[in-house]
Amino acid sequence: MNSIIKQELSNIIDKSDKIGVVSHLNPDGDNIGSILALGSSMEKLGKKVTILKSDFVPNDLLFLPNIEKIISVSDDLNFDVLFVLDSSDAERLGDNKRFIEKAKYIINIDHHISNNNFGHLNIVEPKASSTCEIIYNIISELNLPIDSNIATCIYTGISTDTGRFMYENVNENTHLIVSNLLALGTDIYYVNKKLYQSRSLSKTKLFIEVISSSKLFFDNKVSVAKVTLENLNRANARPEDSDGIVEFLRDTETVEVSVLLKEIETNLTRVSIRTKEYVDANEICNKFNGGGHLRAAGCTIQRNIDETEKLLIESIKQYI
Ligand code: 5GP
Ligand code: MN
Repeated sequence: MNSIIKQELSNIIDKSDKIGVVSHLNPDGDNIGSILALGSSMEKLGKKVTILKSDFVPNDLLFLPNIEKIISVSDDLNFDVLFVLDSSDAERLGDNKRFIEKAKYIINIDHHISNNNFGHLNIVEPKASSTCEIIYNIISELNLPIDSNIATCIYTGISTDTGRFMYENVNENTHLIVSNLLALGTDIYYVNKKLYQSRSLSKTKLFIEVISSSKLFFDNKVSVAKVTLENLNRANARPEDSDGIVEFLRDTETVEVSVLLKEIETNLTRVSIRTKEYVDANEICNKFNGGGHLRAAGCTIQRNIDETEKLLIESIKQYI
C-alpha cells in the first residue's frame, strides 16, 4: 500500500461513523474471513459497523468467531463508507449491488487480477495471496485493533485461498503473517479440523456421486464434473457442498484444466474452473462475463448444464 492510499484510508476511517462491510455471492473462506476481520477490527475501534452477507455462509465457516455479527440486508441501511471485499466487480454482490449504487464512498479491497476498480478508493493487489493478507497489512500499517478472533479469521482466508499454503500465490510474507497470527493466538489445529476435517456425510455422498460420473477429454487433460439438482436431492446436499470437487479432480496427474458445472436452474449454470500450469482460468471465464485468478476462476452461463458443458469444452480446446 503506498503512503497516499494509506493516508486516505486512514482519513476515511477516522471521519466515518457508520461503516458497512459486504461479502460477495458464493462466499468462500477468504471472503467471510476478510469481512469478519476488518469489521471486527473497526468495531473494536468504536465504529458502528454493519457486516453484510450477499449470500449463504457455507456450513464449514460457521465456526468463525463473530460469525453471528453477519446480517442479511434490510433496505434502509445507509453508510458513510462501504467496504467491498474480495470482489472483482459490482456484479459479484448480486442484489447487494444496490448498496454500491447508493453508498457515498466505496472502498474496494481485493486481490483478483480481473478487478475493474469500481471503488472510489481501490486497494487491489493481485500478488497478495488473499484479501485476508491485504486486510492483515492494513490492520498492521494503520495500527488498527487485532485480537485472536480477528487473527483466526485472517488465518482462515489465507489458508483457504492458498489451498492450504500450496499455490503459487504463497510467498515469504504470507508465512511471516501466519507466524504473527499464531503468536496472536490462532489455534490452527482447531481451525484446520473445522475447515478440512468436518465434511458432512451428505457432502461426502455428493462427492462420490459427482466424481464417479465425471468425464475426461483431450488426452485426459481436461476433467469435467456436473452437479445437477437431482444429484443434490439424492445426497440431501446443498449447492455449496460441491465446493472442493473441482480441486480434487484438478489434482489428477494428467489434468491441466478441471471444470465443475453446477445446475442452478434449468437454464442457468455456474461454472468453476481450476488449472495447474499453463492454461489461464481467468481468460476462459472472461469470455463468459466471469473472472477470477490465473489458476481459479468462475462464471455463470444462461444455458442448461449440457449445453454449457459443450460450450466450455469447445472454448477450452484451443488452450490444450
Ligand atoms: P469459484 O470457482 O470458487 O466460485 O471461484 C473461483 C474464483 O473466481 C474466486 O476467486 C471467485 O471470486 C472468482 N469468480 C467466481 N465466479 C466469478 C464471476 O462470476 N465473476 C468474477 N468476476 N469472478 C468470479
Ligand atoms: Mn480471495
